[in-house]
Amino acid sequence: MAAETVDGSALAGRALAAAGARHMFGVVGIPVTSLASRAAAAGVRFLAFRNEQSAGYAAAAYGFLTGSPGLLLTVSGPGCVHGLAGLSHATANAWPLLMLSGSCDQADAGRGDFQELDQIAATKPFAKLAVKATTIADIPRLVFQALAAAVSGRPGGCYLDIPSDVLHQTLPQSEAADLIAAAAAADSAASNPSPPNQKPLDEDEAIGKAADLLRRAERPLVVIGKGAAYARAEEAIRKLVDTTGIPFLPTPMGKGVVPDSHPLSATAARSLAIGQCDVALVVGARLNWLLHFGEPPKWSKDVKFILVDVCEEEIELRKPHVGIVGDAKRVIELINREIKDDPFCLARSHPWVEAITKKTKDNVVRMEAQLAKDVVPFNFLTPLRIIRDAILAEGSPAPIVVSEGANTMDVGRAVLVQNEPRTRLDAGTWGTMGVGLGYCIAAAVAEPERLVVAVEGDSGYGFSAMEVETLVRYQLPVVVIVFNNNGVYGGDRRSSDEITGPFKDDPAPTSFVPAAGYHIMMEAFGGKGYLVETPDELKSALSESFRARKPAVINCIIDPYAGAESGRMQHKN
Ligand code: ADP
Repeated sequence: MAAETVDGSALAGRALAAAGARHMFGVVGIPVTSLASRAAAAGVRFLAFRNEQSAGYAAAAYGFLTGSPGLLLTVSGPGCVHGLAGLSHATANAWPLLMLSGSCDQADAGRGDFQELDQIAATKPFAKLAVKATTIADIPRLVFQALAAAVSGRPGGCYLDIPSDVLHQTLPQSEAADLIAAAAAADSAASNPSPPNQKPLDEDEAIGKAADLLRRAERPLVVIGKGAAYARAEEAIRKLVDTTGIPFLPTPMGKGVVPDSHPLSATAARSLAIGQCDVALVVGARLNWLLHFGEPPKWSKDVKFILVDVCEEEIELRKPHVGIVGDAKRVIELINREIKDDPFCLARSHPWVEAITKKTKDNVVRMEAQLAKDVVPFNFLTPLRIIRDAILAEGSPAPIVVSEGANTMDVGRAVLVQNEPRTRLDAGTWGTMGVGLGYCIAAAVAEPERLVVAVEGDSGYGFSAMEVETLVRYQLPVVVIVFNNNGVYGGDRRSSDEITGPFKDDPAPTSFVPAAGYHIMMEAFGGKGYLVETPDELKSALSESFRARKPAVINCIIDPYAGAESGRMQHKN
C-alpha cells in the first residue's frame, strides 16, 4: 500500500531531520522539488532562493554561525554548477556545509539525459567528501556520513548526489525507520568516545611549551581568527587575555570573540602589533595572505609562533615554534589551566602594553576626528559612523553585520564595532563578492533574536540583489544599506589614454547606471525602500527600519570620487 512506503525524497528529508538538521537553503526544480517539501514536513525548514549561488553562501554562513553544516539543495546539472560557488566558499573558509543535488537518471547517464553532468567529478575538487546514493537504501547512511565529515577535523563542504531514479524509489516505512536508526547508531558510535584530531600524548608537552613561551615573551600577542569564533572559544580567550594582560588582534571575522571595546584590543595598532611582537599565539587563523604569511616585512623575522588549529596539515605547513592540534576552546582552556599554577600578568604600565595602548589611542583619536565630520556628498566614513552608532544603540544581542565590497568592506571593518562573537560576516578567505544577501538570510534564520544589518558596496550587492524578494517573502529582519557610488571602486575612473579604441563609447567596465534606484527595486516586492543622501536622512531611515525589523533597503548615495581603487589592495590589481 502506498501509504506504507517512503520514497527517496521523503527518506532524505527524514534522515536530515534525524541527524539534527533544522534549515536547508536552495532552489527547487527537477528532480528535488519533492525533497524540499518532504524535508520541511519532517522538520527541516526550507528557505527557497532565487539562485543556488546565494543559497550556497547562506549555507556556508549558517555553518559558521551554528557549528552545524549548512544545507544546500540544488537541481541537477546547471543547478549543481551554480551550487559549486557555495560549496567552494565553505571549504575555503573552513565552514561546514552539505550540498545535496539531484542528478540525472542513472539508466540514462552517458546518453545526454536532461541536465546530465558527472556531479561527483564536478564537486570533488571543492569537497572533503563527494558521494552518490546509487539506491534508496544508501540515503540515510550517506546523509549521516556526509554531515559528520563536514564538521570533522577542519570543517568544510561535503557533497551528496541523489539521482532522480533513487529519489523515486520506495521502501516500506518500517525499513526506512530501521535504516535511519542504524545510520544514527553508526554515527554516534563513530563520534565517541574521543573527538577527532586530538593528540593527548603530545598535547601536555605542547601546552607547557606554549605557556612557557608566553610567560617569557617580552612582546606577546594573541591573534584571534574566525576558527576561534567557530569553536566558540570566546570565554576561554577572554579569560586568557584578562588574566595575562596580553594584547590581542582579531582577524576580520575573529572580531567580537573578545569585544572590540576591550582596552587590550590592538586592532587600531595592527602594524605595530604584528611588526614588533616576539611571540604570537595564533588561534584558529591561517598564516595566509590575510596575515601576510607570518613573514617579514610585516612580521618581525624573529617572531615565534604558537599555532592552535584543529587541522594538523595546517600546522605542518606553517612549521611554527609550537603547534597544537586541537579544538581552540579546549586548547585555550588547557593553557589557562597551565598558567593558573604560576600566573603572570603584564601590567598596563608594561612597555609593550603601553606602546600598543598609546598607538591605539593616537590612531583612534585621529580616526574619530575624521569620523566626526559630516561630509556631504557622503564619503565612506560619515555614513559608516552613523551606521556604527545606530548598531551600537541596539545593545545586546548585537545585530549581525554583513559586509562586502572594496572600500565599503575595508573602511567598514575599521569603523564598525563588534562586541559579540560571530556578529561579523564578510567576503572571507577568498574575498568572495556576492555573499551578502545569502549571508543575511542565513543569519536571520540562524539567530532570530538578532537584527541583521548588511553594509554592501553597490557592486557586491548586485551579485545577489534579487534575493531581496526572498527577504520579503520570509519577512526577515534584515536592513540592507547599499553604498551606491555608481560602480566598482566608484564607477568610471579611467585615464584618457584608456578611453580609446572602437568601443570607447561603451561604459567603463567598472561603472553602473548612475544613482541606480536600488530602493525602488525593493519596493517592487513590497519591502521598504529609502533613498538617503544626508546624515539626517540616513539616521531617520536607520531608526525606522531597525525599529520595524522588516526587510528594508537603504540606498545610500556616495560620492563616486570617495574611496580608492581596489580598496586597500591596489598592489594586486
Ligand atoms: P581567518 O580568516 O580569521 O584568519 P582562517 O579561515 O584563515 O581564519 O583560519 C581558520 C582556521 O581555524 C583554519 O585553519 C581551521 O582549520 C581552523 N579551525 C576550524 N575549526 C577550529 C576549531 N574548532 N579549533 C581550532 N581551529 C579551528
